Amino acid sequence: MASLSPANLYVFKDPSFYVPSTSSPDLSRPSVLRTRNIVCSKAVSGEINQTHLRFRSPSKRNLKLQASVEPSKLSKELNNEKLETATATEGGSDLFDEIKQRFLNFKKHVYMQNLEHFDKLANAQAPEFMVVACADSRVCPSSILGFQPGEAFVVRNVANMVPPYESGPSETNAALEFAVNSLKVKNILVIGHSKCGGIRALMSMHDDVETSSFIGSWVAVGMNARVRTKAATTRLSFDRQCSHCEKESVNCSLVNLLSYPWIEEKVKGGELSIHGSYYDFTECTFEKWTLDYKESNFEEGGKFAVKNRAFWC
Ligand SMILES: [Zn+2]
Repeated sequence: MASLSPANLYVFKDPSFYVPSTSSPDLSRPSVLRTRNIVCSKAVSGEINQTHLRFRSPSKRNLKLQASVEPSKLSKELNNEKLETATATEGGSDLFDEIKQRFLNFKKHVYMQNLEHFDKLANAQAPEFMVVACADSRVCPSSILGFQPGEAFVVRNVANMVPPYESGPSETNAALEFAVNSLKVKNILVIGHSKCGGIRALMSMHDDVETSSFIGSWVAVGMNARVRTKAATTRLSFDRQCSHCEKESVNCSLVNLLSYPWIEEKVKGGELSIHGSYYDFTECTFEKWTLDYKESNFEEGGKFAVKNRAFWC
């Protein structure tokens, strides 16, 4: 997987990009794909091409020129606080001061240091991974797995669930469709995690699906995981049942992925691999496994086989 080799990772010359001046968590690398911006009539009809996802930066050419000719001027501009309008909170502090500094650090130490790379990315993306992760603020895939811009097509939702094909359109399967059919990713990675509020909501609901809330309606996608967990963990505490369901739900999502004909076809042909994983942020460990399609049998009562299981700690 050439794109993730160390040699191809960016050189972060200023460690402060990773370690902000405060001890607050790193919020500098947004990873949530705003699928609403992508799903358009052309995408639905299959006419979309990679240029529709271009990260447009009208001033970049000028910026590049400035960088080569007038570095001191550029530096002044990057630090010119007076040009920025502060967004003050009621308490008088600026919520965006830290975020702004992180962005400028990224621009100065990452973007400007890798202009050729970002120039290519501006024209097209070719990520190896499609990632489905929870919306939980503690499980940002780019932070915990080091995905750099262009390496992972990411969709995040409550409890990192993949609804089955029959459930109809959603932002998650729209992102899957684009990643698999247009970007032709080689891997789909579903990341579950510890203390997942969405899974807790799933395990807390009544047997008849709660429809009075958006959360209840959404997490009901994982009802099979809940049923399997309840059957396997009757003697365990509720907290441990939830932990069990966090992994069971990932496996249900892997099975649901295969309900999409264009995914199963590629998995069957060896063009696409689908992986489950589990990030435990209470211990900072990461477990991953790969669906073994050939050894699995998805008929009723069949078996779910995995391979290449690994535990990183
Ligand atoms: Zn979660």
